[in-house]
Amino acid sequence: MNQIEILDKLQAHKEQILQQIRELDDFRQGSLSPRYRKCGKPYCHCAKDGSKGHGPHWLVTRSINKKTVSTTIPKEKVEITYHQIDTFHQFQELVKEYVETNIKICDAQLKEPQGPSVKVQKKG
Ligand SMILES: [Zn+2]
Repeated sequence: MNQIEILDKLQAHKEQILQQIRELDDFRQGSLSPRYRKCGKPYCHCAKDGSKGHGPHWLVTRSINKKTVSTTIPKEKVEITYHQIDTFHQFQELVKEYVETNIKICDAQLKEPQGPSVKVQKKG
């Protein structure tokens, strides 16, 4: 394969990745986990040894500027939320691959003696 073919192949791969990103379902960043709480009433079942407490109460947490932000997830939305988090991970993988493909394109361009002309978008 010559450089032009390699570049064409890489450009096509970039398009393919973008298409996959476009087709992703809605996603959210964060981690989902069940929480249990003790209500504090001494005679409640939750006060007994070994009791997890009341719940579960589902929370999605993520950190924004080093602060943890949490969102309550209703029980009936737990499954879809797991799917949304999985989809976010797919998105991250695709972005990583997109970045790597771009680097390969730049590397391949370095090997071209003439090189493709650089398309610089001028603003204004
Ligand atoms: Zn209780």
